[in-house]
Amino acid sequence: MEQLKADVVVVGGGPSGFGAAISAAREGARVILVEEDAMLGGSAVDYGVQAFSPGIVCGVNQEIRDILAQKDYTFKHTKSAFNSHWYAYACNLLASRESNLTVLTHTTGIGVLMEGDRVTGVVVQTRGGGDKGFIQRKIQAHVVIDCSGDGDVAVAAGAEFRYGREAKSEFNEPHAPDVADRRVQQCTWMYKSRRIDPNSTYVPDFDYNRDIGFGEYLHWGCQVECEDTTDAEALREAEKKAWEAMLPNFETLERNGFAVVGIAPKLGVRESRRIVGEVIVTENDCNEGRRFPDAITSSSRGLDSWEPDRKKIFYARSAMYDIPYRALVPKRIDGLLVAGRCLSATHIAKSGFRVMVTVSSIGQAAGIAAAQAAATGRMPREIDVARLQARLESPPHNVIWSKHREE
Ligand SMILES: Cc1cc2nc3c(=O)[nH]c(=O)nc-3n(C[C@H](O)[C@H](O)[C@H](O)COP(=O)(O)OP(=O)(O)OC[C@H]3O[C@@H](n4cnc5c(N)ncnc54)[C@H](O)[C@@H]3O)c2cc1C
Repeated sequence: MEQLKADVVVVGGGPSGFGAAISAAREGARVILVEEDAMLGGSAVDYGVQAFSPGIVCGVNQEIRDILAQKDYTFKHTKSAFNSHWYAYACNLLASRESNLTVLTHTTGIGVLMEGDRVTGVVVQTRGGGDKGFIQRKIQAHVVIDCSGDGDVAVAAGAEFRYGREAKSEFNEPHAPDVADRRVQQCTWMYKSRRIDPNSTYVPDFDYNRDIGFGEYLHWGCQVECEDTTDAEALREAEKKAWEAMLPNFETLERNGFAVVGIAPKLGVRESRRIVGEVIVTENDCNEGRRFPDAITSSSRGLDSWEPDRKKIFYARSAMYDIPYRALVPKRIDGLLVAGRCLSATHIAKSGFRVMVTVSSIGQAAGIAAAQAAATGRMPREIDVARLQARLESPPHNVIWSKHREE
């Protein structure tokens, strides 16, 4: 099997993985970013999530926005909604400027290399061209960062994880159900529609859609429950339910002079596994505006959970709460960091800060931490967190969040 070597391997090229890879490379590490899709961008591309929710805008997220502001007519108009292809373009452009970064698209992480409880790399599968068919490669690295969204790498390494809702008794969370279960937030298939009859005065009035200008609407197209968002067969069943749920709205749009002009490549999964780290962020941490000494970013986003019983829990917060570095460090497993929507938090807590702007900053913190670990020969749980915090807010990373926390 072909062998590659890097200081840092990032699995998953969504907002968190892209931030991680760019930051690790800028910190001087040799980085390989593995993405199974053809394009970088993760949810912003393959789930058609084409709108930024509020948060502290800085770092790589700001750089992507600067490119969108030059290229994307929707972003110029709305300052928050955008088009997937321009998001992918921005990632591609930024990645191509990093000499320390190798991007392997069309490449899927399928396993981990381990020495005891330490991850030492990943096994990936891709297409070899010519007469090779499928090929597998081993990529050895000092640190692997799992930004797969689902925590697949961490699970392959034997990390502890949570799936579903915690019982109220466990962390005393006000919005937790009385009894724990295996239900997660609902899945939603995003799509866009456009007014094609110039005489139509119709305004789409389904649940959750947004006028993004130029006669176009972005639709949070359905709310379907999936029995297990990490299981291919269960996802297939949810996809069938999603088509059934969306077709009546498609017909309404067409009757009223609209056309459905773009359905996301994949049904959007809001939640799957949460890898248990050295700290688990809870609803009470968010409510109380908890400050952690190892904070790497903050959010003021309240809960935003599309609960399985179709009752959307949403409430705003005004105070900031911190995301601690220890939530990125899986318990017991070394050589591994977890960033993005699979990091260590409860079902309720995660619902607020899972949005792109925040996970991008979290990813950048993971990238700098991994580079620091590689440069010093330490494990991610042993790094100098004060140095990480200082580097995060310094050029070229510019993840400037702490002054916003005090505002
Ligand atoms: C329907 C829906 C609507 C949303 N609406 C908004 C919104 O309006 N605003 C907002 O800010 N956020 C929104 N979000 C949340 C936000 O999009 C995600 O939480 C966030 O993008 C998660 O980023 P991530 O990097 O953790 O994971 P993802 O964006 O999911 O990226 C994971 C990447 O890893 C890749 N990958 C997975 N496994 C492997 C593997 N084994 N090998 C190689 N690559 C792999 C995937 O292909 C993907 O590119 C929404 C989410 C959904 C589902």
